[in-house]
Amino acid sequence: MSDCLFCRIVAGEVPATVVRESETMLAFRDITPKAPIHVLVIPKAHHENIAALAAADPVLAAHLITEAAEVARAEGIGDGWRLVANNGAPVGQTVFHAHLHVLGGGRIEGL
Ligand code: AMP
Ligand code: ZN
Repeated sequence: MSDCLFCRIVAGEVPATVVRESETMLAFRDITPKAPIHVLVIPKAHHENIAALAAADPVLAAHLITEAAEVARAEGIGDGWRLVANNGAPVGQTVFHAHLHVLGGGRIEGL
């Protein structure tokens, strides 16, 4: 999906501040953070949103959640953090490649 922004980040065609990576997932800082800590956790494979990913590959969907917890711990917010996944434009999904928002470290705005 060469027209997908997050596929292009996975391919290294668009720069991102990567904080964690596995064979199947990537975690990088949100470019417009809504909280002091705001990291996006994405599958390397293209799925339109987290619900589509869970339907197609539930093992990978679960992997993203355990990796999100590792990101939170590594970022120093393991004691309390929020996981957000927008499914569909009506609730504000703007990038149609599945992603989890890991948020914490202070006030969370606009999600
Ligand atoms: P959503 O609104 O749930 O689809 O979330 C998309 C998120 O991607 C937003 O929080 C954006 O700030 C973030 N975003 C957009 N472009 C980039 C980029 N190039 N690098 C990192 N994060 C991005
Ligand atoms: Zn994609």
